[in-house]
Amino acid sequence: MCPSSRLPTLRARPGSRRIQPSEGEPILEKPPAATQRDTRRLHFDAVIFDHDNTLADATRVGEDLFQPAFDAVLGKVSAQNRADKPYMDKLTRAFAACWFTAFDAVAKSHDFTADMTDAGKKAFTEIQVKKESGYAPYRDAYLVPLIHAHMPCFLVTSGFQKLQESKIDVLGMRPWFDEFIVDRVDVAGASHGKKVVFADIVKRHGFKHERVLVVGDNPVSEIKAGNELGMHTVQVLRPRVEWSNDANAHIFTLAQLWPLIGLGDDAPEPAHK
Ligand SMILES: [Mg+2]
Repeated sequence: MCPSSRLPTLRARPGSRRIQPSEGEPILEKPPAATQRDTRRLHFDAVIFDHDNTLADATRVGEDLFQPAFDAVLGKVSAQNRADKPYMDKLTRAFAACWFTAFDAVAKSHDFTADMTDAGKKAFTEIQVKKESGYAPYRDAYLVPLIHAHMPCFLVTSGFQKLQESKIDVLGMRPWFDEFIVDRVDVAGASHGKKVVFADIVKRHGFKHERVLVVGDNPVSEIKAGNELGMHTVQVLRPRVEWSNDANAHIFTLAQLWPLIGLGDDAPEPAHK
């Protein structure tokens, strides 16, 4: 018997490529390459998603996960500063900011010394999310692969390579995107900033800037980058995220992307309902 005759047949989406299975492997479907999908009836040609606090709560990795890095930073604080309450309060605020903003940006904006920054970076470089941590995406994240079936999707995240990759792998999200890019801050000179990364995506795939939708939480990161490039920016107002007037639109759930993209009035319900 031919191997494929024993396997369930999946209906291919128009334009999708069927990957022929070898013996014992399931039939897989892969979305067409980013520039091949027909998005003419939609309002956008591609979506660029942020990860932390957009698709998953950054603190769900477990609040102890970053402690080795915070301890490393603290180890470089002078005795004089340790005794200075306003200084230590500012440092506490800096650590809290690390759940929303990449460490190097926090270090810069909170005036960390070079020693503090280096010690924190070194510790962060080794931190990874473990499968058993209970890390999970927001409940509406199941909508991302459904959007991906219609149009190219990209995931662009800033941070430490190992940490960000471990998050995506624990959540099994890689197949949801045409590309997953970490703007890595752990190697000197490797970080280009999201504006450069977004511009590169647009150039390589031949998108028009105004036909790219940027979805994220952070007004000084992906929202700023998208605005500067003339993209349409949407801020997701997750818990603890403050409304920013800089975004072109605001949503509370990814379901609100459906009418915005032109996919219909209502997003599909989760499959288990
Ligand atoms: Mg974010």
